[in-house]
Amino acid sequence: MKIAVIGGVAAGMSAASGARRHGKSAEITVLERGSAVSYGACGLPYYAEGRIADWRSLIVHTPETFQRERGVEVRTNAEVVELEHARRRLRLRDGGTASYDKLILCTGAALHPPPPEGVHTLHNPAGAAKLRQRLDDAAPGRAAIVGGGYIGIEAAEVLRARAWRVVIFEQRGDLLGREDSELTRRIGSHLTRCHVDVRLGQAAKSFEADRVNGEPFELVLLAGGLRPNTELAQQAGIALGRTGAIAVSDHMETSTGGIYAAGDCAETTDLVSGAPVWIPLGTTANKMGRVAGACAAGARERFPGVVGTTIARACGLGVAVTGLSPAQAKAHHFRPATVWIKAKDRASYFQGHPTEVQLTADKGTGRLLGASVMGYYGVEGRINTVAAALQARMSLEDFAQLDLAYAPPFSPVWDPLLVAAHQLRKLLH
Ligand SMILES: Cc1cc2nc3c(=O)[nH]c(=O)nc-3n(C[C@H](O)[C@H](O)[C@H](O)COP(=O)(O)OP(=O)(O)OC[C@H]3O[C@@H](n4cnc5c(N)ncnc54)[C@H](O)[C@@H]3O)c2cc1C
Repeated sequence: MKIAVIGGVAAGMSAASGARRHGKSAEITVLERGSAVSYGACGLPYYAEGRIADWRSLIVHTPETFQRERGVEVRTNAEVVELEHARRRLRLRDGGTASYDKLILCTGAALHPPPPEGVHTLHNPAGAAKLRQRLDDAAPGRAAIVGGGYIGIEAAEVLRARAWRVVIFEQRGDLLGREDSELTRRIGSHLTRCHVDVRLGQAAKSFEADRVNGEPFELVLLAGGLRPNTELAQQAGIALGRTGAIAVSDHMETSTGGIYAAGDCAETTDLVSGAPVWIPLGTTANKMGRVAGACAAGARERFPGVVGTTIARACGLGVAVTGLSPAQAKAHHFRPATVWIKAKDRASYFQGHPTEVQLTADKGTGRLLGASVMGYYGVEGRINTVAAALQARMSLEDFAQLDLAYAPPFSPVWDPLLVAAHQLRKLLH
């Protein structure tokens, strides 16, 4: 059996590996239009900052190692321009063709519309390399970041570390796309203390290399406007979902039998609300890809969906979210009750710092709905605990009884999550 994968980053390489695991004798080919495969885009901000000397250390596999270790042919500079499913054939930009029995679309997401000339991005290694060069060559000045999602916030940290003054333009009234004014206020205050000027509700209506809305800047970086890359799918008549990404079953199969999709080009299910969502993340892309590959090779694996767990660092502060914000919960017809608490992240005599926890539960059913955690230590452990509870559809009552680890170097005896849970119980009873 021939399995072709289009796209060779997180989803594509995981799909090829998943297919190999279940299809020992399958002929598997990855077609990637770029010159590199299998790199961690998540590390690009830190490469641009100078923390990572060479972006190539973000590469996990080269085409050669993948061929040698997994028996998968990886073709770079191989852009697929047409998908003729009736003939199970792909047409490439260089005039060549490739055939398949099963196809996996891992085409990712793209900035749409593409940024004007001279506007920086962090979307791929070439963009990050240009930004790095600029930061190395130019004296620090004033920079504008367009977009207040997690990439914009990470970019602000990078630019501040290189002594640039930073303005973030965010067209929405909130940061991280969470529709959460309280979370936004808290992140915004922290960024302001770090000398980042956050302009909420200000769309960058026009921007170019050295100005945004007519205001001059020495550097402009686009960190928003990502859209699922669905051109090939649409051309082949594959259905998109409500979010505009490719609709897939939990076996990652599209509306066209024999064609699968995974990663940033595909939609998934929000396990808290049950609604379709598009949350493009590397962690999800890897898991979806693995399932798509396994299923294309004949296995029956499932990708159930996500709870939207995201973490980023904002000028040294860890900011993490999972599940629904109170406003999102309301929009999905829950009756959310929410608390914010501030507690020490570990014992005071072990350099404990304040950490802030937001916990949300449904007044009607007592079900846990979501959380945010902000702090300097233990943020990932705490948000992951809530993520696991959300995936298990845990009630607040059960969550408040969790047996969490304690020793002074790691946490206070009452973990901040439990402090928040006990506060929230009072609002539910
Ligand atoms: C700056 C930055 C920081 C990030 N940080 C994090 C993080 O901390 N945590 C996290 O979970 N996620 C993070 N992400 C997101 C993560 O990198 C993406 O979700 C992940 O790369 C998606 O993988 P993918 O394989 O679906 O798509 P992509 O990585 O976009 O790969 C798709 C590939 O398909 C190729 N392709 C597209 N069309 C064709 C075609 N027609 N023919 C051939 N090839 C084609 C493209 O060239 C591309 O290489 C970050 C992203 C960025 C940009």
